[in-house]
Amino acid sequence: MAKKAPAPSSANPLPGVKNIIAVVSGKGGVGKSTVAANLALALSASGATIGLMDADIYGPSMPMMFGLRGERPMMKEDESGKGKIIPIEKYGLKIMSIGFLVDEKQAVVWRGPMASSAIKQFVTDVEWGELDILVIDMPPGTGDIHLTLLQTIPLTGVVIVTTPQDVALADAKKGIAMFGQAQVNVPILGIVENMAYFTPAELPDNKYYIFGKDGGKNLASEYDVNLLGQIPIVQAIREGGDKGVPVVAGDDEITKAAFRDLAGKTI
Ligand code: ADP
Repeated sequence: MAKKAPAPSSANPLPGVKNIIAVVSGKGGVGKSTVAANLALALSASGATIGLMDADIYGPSMPMMFGLRGERPMMKEDESGKGKIIPIEKYGLKIMSIGFLVDEKQAVVWRGPMASSAIKQFVTDVEWGELDILVIDMPPGTGDIHLTLLQTIPLTGVVIVTTPQDVALADAKKGIAMFGQAQVNVPILGIVENMAYFTPAELPDNKYYIFGKDGGKNLASEYDVNLLGQIPIVQAIREGGDKGVPVVAGDDEITKAAFRDLAGKTI
């Protein structure tokens, strides 16, 4: 297991959380949220207690991916009388998303400081309790929310999601630079190459490298970090996300095994 990065400030606001993994991508649309959701479920299936924080304030995916659209979290008071938001539980995960707090048709048009303050509240005002691992689905890119989280909580490490396509790889390098650089120095747990290839059902021995071949694998060796997995393009993955039943909570055994393998290599 990777060593925890030093706490960014004196007090750790999540003392009950043993590990915090941020799932990041340079570019949007590469499957970061899909990987975060299924990684969280695969870790949970191995017996760990898992929370999932949807930190993508501007484009929250988790309410839809978990079939929780329109759900609103309950509140409770802690011992000091402070109001706490109780994460919504689904498939054994504790989940929190801005999508549970704002109307889904409303765009979140906040400047950086507003978004940063919302994300701080996701850390301090949510009753995460005791968790083995908190998985954070980060917004794409390298912006205010990333910096805020880095300054607020001690990250155990970062998982980088990319497709094998050059434009995605170029942006993934920026993510590696942000987290791996000397000042921040959060361990990179590894790279997930998503949408690595496509195999049609009628040609089970064929692989079509639609977005290029081995881009994530080569990136991992270039930066000397682990390749956690090469996830193919699978219709069930897309359908699971749209139906609110991520594949790891469904019955596509091959895809479930791929995410189980990925979870085993992550931590
Ligand atoms: P991001 O969080 O990077 O913006 P998403 O996880 O929302 O990306 O994925 C973008 C779209 O691609 C979604 O419709 C999702 O269901 C689909 N998708 C992601 N990974 C795969 C995959 N391996 N196979 C098929 N569809 C996928």
